[in-house]
Amino acid sequence: MVIVMKPQCSKEDIAGVENFLKKLNLGVHISEGSERTIIGVIGDKRLLADAPLELMSGVDRIVHIVEPYKLAGRTFKPENSVIRAANAEIGGNRIAVIAGPCAVESEEQIISTARFLKEQGVTFLRGGAYKPRTSPYSFQGLEEGGLRILAQARKETGLPVVTEAVSTKSLELAAKYADVIQIGARNMQNFNLLQEVGRMKVPVILKRGLSATIEEWLSAAEYIMNEGNYNIILCERGIRTFETYTRNTLDLSSIPAVKELSHLPIIADPSHGTGRWRLVTPMSRAAIAAGADGLLVEVHPCPKEALSDGPQSLNFDSFAGLMKDIHKIAAIVGREI
Ligand code: PEP
Ligand code: MN
Repeated sequence: MVIVMKPQCSKEDIAGVENFLKKLNLGVHISEGSERTIIGVIGDKRLLADAPLELMSGVDRIVHIVEPYKLAGRTFKPENSVIRAANAEIGGNRIAVIAGPCAVESEEQIISTARFLKEQGVTFLRGGAYKPRTSPYSFQGLEEGGLRILAQARKETGLPVVTEAVSTKSLELAAKYADVIQIGARNMQNFNLLQEVGRMKVPVILKRGLSATIEEWLSAAEYIMNEGNYNIILCERGIRTFETYTRNTLDLSSIPAVKELSHLPIIADPSHGTGRWRLVTPMSRAAIAAGADGLLVEVHPCPKEALSDGPQSLNFDSFAGLMKDIHKIAAIVGREI
């Protein structure tokens, strides 16, 4: 349920409603829009059965929400959320480009990639230090050593860093070094991890689960928001379908759908979404045209030698081509890069 306050209500009116709800031990989340304040109420609504909320000073109306997610929904916050991370903003007019290798493999690999990406004008450097691999025998990542290399690349290039956390332990370490934490597809419903990152302030990229519906994905975002962290960027990275030519099926329709249902920014990951480097640039163009707020793209100095996800990684030349293309599409849809 949300309580929509009147446009001209006072700070005391808002505090009055907030205190009333808190006395009943209900969770209170406040969204201050440019026109009105909306108060989200989480908890057992039976406690409010006899409460004349509509009669309280400053209250306009009560809206009951049927979706399982409330704070992530547009009813709670009609305006788009813009997430600030390091010196960048995601969800505004500017398209964010997050690029880098799947995994941090060596200092040389990351520093050379970061230097190239900086020249290309990307927004964030990415690289996994903890890799959630399908097989336990595949490269699992350099762990804290990898985080240190990412921090060094940031120091040398000024590019802020995105990296994945796979457990509560790696989350603590990753948050020490990185500007944005990625929660990967395989952990989208790792509820303890979601709650843990929800208790932090760090911006989070929440990837769509391998077989998750949009409702399940937004409910995962709700877990994080319900703990107080509203700094969430959703990432469409493809879902499992019967198609096997591509690694996953990049669900481009989820981009405008999520835009309708939620105020959170959404970016697209055509690398994991297709699994094939030749498809990455065309699907990047399509994602920007569909309204994505950014891209997450795997780039490697020598994809053939990559320790993970080489077949879907762009080399430097292909990535430079991608950047040129998306500048053109961005201009058509009235956005900047
Ligand atoms: C990744 O970004 O390298 C990754 C493992 O992605 P996903 O969780 O989408 O598979
Ligand atoms: Mn990868």
